Amino acid sequence: MKQQTQFENELIKCSGNPKCVQCGYCCKKAACQYGVWSSALKQCLFLTDKNLCSKYDEIIQFYGAVVNPAFGAGCSSPMFNEVRNKKLMERK
Ligand code: SF4
Ligand code: SF4
Repeated sequence: MKQQTQFENELIKCSGNPKCVQCGYCCKKAACQYGVWSSALKQCLFLTDKNLCSKYDEIIQFYGAVVNPAFGAGCSSPMFNEVRNKKLMERK
């Protein structure tokens, strides 16, 4: 039987609508349009220690985040995301 490549494994894992598991990865790669990037911390200033967005209520209330960040629309960065993969494994 043919062995699946790592890429194929990632595709299978990410099919459908992969949920956000609050791993914090995306907010540590770049700040969204409502965030502020900290070069010192290498993350958005509004990301909490628990990988939550401290501007969540404000963004939803005033901007209704439909595009970016798309709260509630699943994970934006599921491919080759070892931080998310680790969190998923811990939840099993
Ligand atoms: S979702 Fe929140 S924590 Fe993440 S980048 Fe945007 S403002 Fe920052
Ligand atoms: S990388 Fe995906 S799972 Fe992790 S915080 Fe961002 S959207 Fe959520």
